[in-house]
Amino acid sequence: MAVVALPRRTPATSAAALPVDHLERVWAWGRAQSVMSWVWRPSTVDGIRDVLGLAASRGLSVGLRGAGCSYGDASLNAEAVCLDLSRMNRVLDWNPDSGVIRVEPGVTIRQLWHYVLEDGWWPPVVSGTMAITLGGAAGMNVHGKNAWKLGPIGDHVRAVDVLLASGEVVRCSREERPDLFHAAIGGFGMLGCFTSIELQLERIHSGLLEIEAIPARSLAEAMAIFEQRLDTADYLVGWIDCFGRGRGLGRGLVHAAYHLPPGTDLRAAQTLRPAHQELPATLFGVLPKSAMWMLMRPLTNDLGVRFVNTAKYHLSARQGRIRYRQPHVAFHFLFDYIPDWKRAYGPGGLIEFQAFVPAAAAKISYDEVLARSHRAGIVPYLAVLKRHRPDPFWMTHGLDGWSLACHFRVTRANRERLWRHCRELAQMVTATGGRFYFAKDSTLAPDDLGDFYGEERVRRFLALKREVDPEARWQTELWKRLFTAR
Ligand SMILES: Cc1cc2nc3c(=O)[nH]c(=O)nc-3n(C[C@H](O)[C@H](O)[C@H](O)COP(=O)(O)OP(=O)(O)OC[C@H]3O[C@@H](n4cnc5c(N)ncnc54)[C@H](O)[C@@H]3O)c2cc1C
Repeated sequence: MAVVALPRRTPATSAAALPVDHLERVWAWGRAQSVMSWVWRPSTVDGIRDVLGLAASRGLSVGLRGAGCSYGDASLNAEAVCLDLSRMNRVLDWNPDSGVIRVEPGVTIRQLWHYVLEDGWWPPVVSGTMAITLGGAAGMNVHGKNAWKLGPIGDHVRAVDVLLASGEVVRCSREERPDLFHAAIGGFGMLGCFTSIELQLERIHSGLLEIEAIPARSLAEAMAIFEQRLDTADYLVGWIDCFGRGRGLGRGLVHAAYHLPPGTDLRAAQTLRPAHQELPATLFGVLPKSAMWMLMRPLTNDLGVRFVNTAKYHLSARQGRIRYRQPHVAFHFLFDYIPDWKRAYGPGGLIEFQAFVPAAAAKISYDEVLARSHRAGIVPYLAVLKRHRPDPFWMTHGLDGWSLACHFRVTRANRERLWRHCRELAQMVTATGGRFYFAKDSTLAPDDLGDFYGEERVRRFLALKREVDPEARWQTELWKRLFTAR
């Protein structure tokens, strides 16, 4: 087998060679960063142990990767081993009466809903794309548009098997090793590798949701629309036009969605079929969606996005409040309508800045995020508003408050300024008791961690890491950026 000598940046202990045919360029989802890694895609638990053994024998770290949908560096591990779990994608156990499923970590949300829908079940928490794996979802403790109501996915995980750096597999739940359970879920792959995940799904009685779309003239109005529906809606999400200014600062469109009660959907047997849910393969029946990102590209700049957002806002404002029914997939996975849309951002890619802010401070903080972005001349092209609740996981981003997730385009000219801008915004947000989410982060620095987690929480996590991974086998670029200095 052909071999390649390790680059100079790797530790002296790793000087031995690894097979060159495993060397690959690995991208952050937002394409603002990429690294070279030795990638392995094992299909069994023993296969994972083999990779761990190989890495240990070379003194190399191992970074876990699911579908690679984290926007930044959370599943990158430069010049070391990348353990890609996407081939471990089997359903291990399914009980259609109780809705409890046990899966391997590489099972995606797409596979999951396909598998269970016809039995009348749906994942309790889904992200804006169905491409993510359950291992990655647990690793980041993802939230959905129902975060204020059902919490993050960890709140629905009954148990996980965690493979430690020693090769031992430990079953963790709220009863067995609760410390590891609450730290590894949301522990961004730094304590061990989930080899199985047992999840309680949510009962549904139709493949459709009742949707209410409500235009909002300002951020305050969008938040009020949420507040009025917190007790009745099942999902709430707000699109914010960040180009709005003055009285229109934070204007946008709120979508509330409601599950249909039993007996309401007379065609439930049909709507609960996967075929009823699939997103269309073409746009307007002719244009292949795979080509759409190329058409979006000329519009993905300040002028183009300002124009598109303004048109979208005014069209929805003119339409006023409307109600309609929509398949679950069409409502939840808006980001999957246009494959590879991130490429429309151009060669610099994009980063996301998602600020979680306690309820009392949210409005004023987000006004400030938008106003400062205008002043800096770096306006987010997309922003999404959600409501959250606290949860018991150690490295949680959840709180009793809101999140505003902003997409920033990265160019060679703005990169340095953008990173500085996000750092300044982060400092403003943490001063209000706000938090950040590693799945979306690219710009935080080590000093920010203590500010938003509290030093005690960080110390407790690092102590557990030292206990279960004394040689720091599990590492990623995010870990190195934020924690190694500590
Ligand atoms: C378009 C888009 C929309 C999104 N919408 C949302 C949203 O609505 N809500 C939300 O919360 N997030 C959202 N995200 C972020 C995404 O859900 C998370 O980044 C998620 O963790 C990605 O899962 P993945 O399988 O791609 O994992 P990766 O990105 O590959 O990895 C995520 C983390 O989990 C670790 N990991 C992976 N596999 C394992 C394993 N088997 N055991 C232990 N650790 C592991 C990795 O080391 C890494 O730290 C969105 C992302 C995109 C691209």
